[in-house]
Amino acid sequence: MPPELICPDCGSEIEDSTDFGVGRRVHFVTVEGDGGVALDPDRTVTLWHCANCNLVVSVS
Ligand SMILES: [Zn+2]
Repeated sequence: MPPELICPDCGSEIEDSTDFGVGRRVHFVTVEGDGGVALDPDRTVTLWHCANCNLVVSVS
């Protein structure tokens, strides 16, 4: 058994994908030393939200 994912805000157990809110795809960026943001247009990640409180709990 892999470790359980538990929302740090509301304590909900996330057992399968139906426990997630809608994942959004966002671009991967690098924040640079001068405060600038460099976008990598070829790289995106999906944000997964807790279905109960909407906190972002993981990415893939
Ligand atoms: Zn939650």
